Amino acid sequence: MIKYIVLIAVIAVIFWMVTGKARAAARQAKEQADRPAERAAEDMVRCAHCGLFLPKADSVEARGVRFCSREHERLH
Ligand SMILES: [Zn+2]
Repeated sequence: MIKYIVLIAVIAVIFWMVTGKARAAARQAKEQADRPAERAAEDMVRCAHCGLFLPKADSVEARGVRFCSREHERLH
């Protein structure tokens, strides 16, 4: 009889560990899913040469106009 109690306890511990890991993974997936929304909220600017949308921080500014690269700044 004691063997079954030990077996049930072991199964319970394994089950608890597996569901705990699943919860942690689900939480991590949710956090990662929330990140693109934050990034989309970031200021987006349009390249005056090719019309590409890009984050303001990645853009190049020249004469009050924004470009996606130095190459497009030069070509414009
Ligand atoms: Zn461009």
